[in-house]
Amino acid sequence: MHEVTLDGERFLLEAGASFGSDSELAAEITPELAAGAQFLILSHAHADHCGRLIELVRKGFRGPVYCTPPTARLLYPSMEQSAKHGDQGQETFYFSANSKKTAQRKGTNYCVHLYPDCNRGSRIKAPQKLTANRAELDRLGAYYCGHCAALDAERALQGLTPVPAGEEFSPSEKLRAVFYPTPHLPGAGMVLIKNPATGHSLLFGGDSGSGLSPFLAPESLPPGADWAIIEGTYGPERNQVPTDSRSDFRRTLGELLKAGKRVVIPAFTLDRSQQLIYEYMKGKQEGVIPPGEILLYSSSAEEFTRIYEEELPGTGNAAFFSPEFLTGIPFSSHYRSSREIAETGYGKVAIATSGMGDAGFSREFIKRYIGDPETVFVFVGYQDPETLGGSLVLAPEENLVVVTLKSGEVIRGRKLAENTGSLLVESDGKKRALPKAALAGVEPGIPNLTIDGRSYPVKARILQFNCFSGHARPEEILENLKKLAGLKTVLIVHSEGSTAERLRDYYSREIPGVEFIVPVLGEELVFNPAPEAKRTGPPDLSPDRGLPVGPLGR
Ligand SMILES: [Zn+2]
Ligand SMILES: [Zn+2]
Ligand SMILES: [Zn+2]
Repeated sequence: MHEVTLDGERFLLEAGASFGSDSELAAEITPELAAGAQFLILSHAHADHCGRLIELVRKGFRGPVYCTPPTARLLYPSMEQSAKHGDQGQETFYFSANSKKTAQRKGTNYCVHLYPDCNRGSRIKAPQKLTANRAELDRLGAYYCGHCAALDAERALQGLTPVPAGEEFSPSEKLRAVFYPTPHLPGAGMVLIKNPATGHSLLFGGDSGSGLSPFLAPESLPPGADWAIIEGTYGPERNQVPTDSRSDFRRTLGELLKAGKRVVIPAFTLDRSQQLIYEYMKGKQEGVIPPGEILLYSSSAEEFTRIYEEELPGTGNAAFFSPEFLTGIPFSSHYRSSREIAETGYGKVAIATSGMGDAGFSREFIKRYIGDPETVFVFVGYQDPETLGGSLVLAPEENLVVVTLKSGEVIRGRKLAENTGSLLVESDGKKRALPKAALAGVEPGIPNLTIDGRSYPVKARILQFNCFSGHARPEEILENLKKLAGLKTVLIVHSEGSTAERLRDYYSREIPGVEFIVPVLGEELVFNPAPEAKRTGPPDLSPDRGLPVGPLGR
């Protein structure tokens, strides 16, 4: 979230994420911050950009929320997900003592409510109270009511004001603004905010699209801006173009299915899942993928897919889509929703949430099938090394060996090299050349994956494709920045670790006339009409000046 004052008008860009422990990194939203903002602009519907809108509205924000029409439509399920799973801090819930008793007897969780007008909770005769945060709820054997979550979403989106791309609107008396599409998600847009009286202008880039999506239209850019705020998801080292292509993906998927493998693709629910259905459908049209259906394991992915198919192809949304999408993609005839993991038998393909294997169905699929040599897990996005997906794609499965010597000794290690007479193996940090004459057998080694304290042997095949990224490479962002007339200062946000610093050095080298700044959480920056930005002393980490950082949508 960025709090901006432009020529005296105070507003917010994005609402930030509210996921689990990451919210600890975010500044507190004070009632002063929430009530003081005239309006909010959302660049797109990913939860890391809009999740905290629930909290913002609870704390008193009442202004309009500007976004594009596809974003507005996608925001409802996205916001419900944030309401259900996001961390909203300490909350006071109410519940029925009877249902708690019944649930505890059955060994299930009991339902707790927030809103007095919830159609389930309002019927409770003598409600009891409980103050906890969401993580504690689960430990206490409770879960948050789905209807209350829907009310959260509805209230958060009360001020929703959709504006088509390319159409100028007046978010406040002095300011004018326009959305420019970027191929990141349907509806994803950069926004140019300007004051015609002073000529000052700020471009907020949101998440820059990669252009790899087959159904999103290419970027359109404003002619210029004084200041820009850009994303820094990928560092300069991720400048390489993808090494594989969508047609490689379709061909590989077809070959695996024809060979009778069970294929599991962990994927994010919004957009990645729909792109996978699209590629599957295209592969069938081309004849490289055998007849069948793709099974979708995620109720929110199902909801998003329905919106893609039924609500997005309207002509008012044309700016965001390629003609191919607008001619109609029969998503629904190519996927079926399932909740039962066993339905994905051999020769079938499943898309399962979440994308890094850490939660939801993906995690269950990994636990159940990671030991099965006939199952293939296909990862279609960046995998954080800290996640299950990360440990799987990094697992050095191919070179692990178990060598049995004729003497009976067993050596587990990594095969480094092999020639006619010997095998070079690294084991326990030591290199050993083993004469082939001394070998009784060489078996492929199996790495282990520990989930919830239990060890699982990794026998399934692990593949990864990098042709699905949703974010632009730094080189592509650089090309866009070069096209902006009058650009003076650029802030790099939406970044983790030291990535933003490396990007600052890279961009500064490439466009020497422009100043690049990596703001610190809570820092206040003042831009002058003169070509420099001033940092006003040390970062003010008081809670009302926050640039919350959270898990990044990839
Ligand atoms: Zn409720
Ligand atoms: Zn993002
Ligand atoms: Zn995003």
